[in-house]
Amino acid sequence: MPEINIDLVAILDQISQVLEIAAVCFGAFMAAFSISLVVWTFRDIRARTHDVLFQALSILLVLVFNVLGLLLYLILRPKETLAERHERTLAEEALLQDIEERLACPSCGVRVRSDYLLCPACHTQLKRECEACGRLNELTWNLCPYCSHVHPPVEVQDTLAEENMSPETEQFFSRPSGHDQSAEPAQ
Ligand SMILES: [Zn+2]
Ligand SMILES: [Zn+2]
Repeated sequence: MPEINIDLVAILDQISQVLEIAAVCFGAFMAAFSISLVVWTFRDIRARTHDVLFQALSILLVLVFNVLGLLLYLILRPKETLAERHERTLAEEALLQDIEERLACPSCGVRVRSDYLLCPACHTQLKRECEACGRLNELTWNLCPYCSHVHPPVEVQDTLAEENMSPETEQFFSRPSGHDQSAEPAQ
């Protein structure tokens, strides 16, 4: 009987040693985990704001409340990173510039669509139609990029563009009655 008792004490001693080692390992892991959370928060908040106070409070939140603090941080942190915000601003600026430059009549400023031949308000010519393929070309192009047709000078094109208008377009523009409708193309 005493031998069995000694064995039991030895086994219990071993179990307690193993548990102790496990507890130390677990403690070390939790400490490393907490530090990792803080480091992750530090990197994340620095990518999202330049506000030092906000950065410090975020790190403190995770430092004190650990996983729960991280949860709060994820709820409260700025939605976009600085890089994302910068990218969005650039895209918005490009879009605005595009609208201002391309979709307004250069003469009267009325909004026009990119496929308009003339401005519906002041009748300024915005584009020209290629005589060969019929696609819309910018006035500054001296050849058609779609079919490589070389355009005659712009003055001739002005007359041609007016001649090429469909009857509905002419009605829509309701030109003054004195306008010379019978003008022949200069070619
Ligand atoms: Zn106009
Ligand atoms: Zn063409």
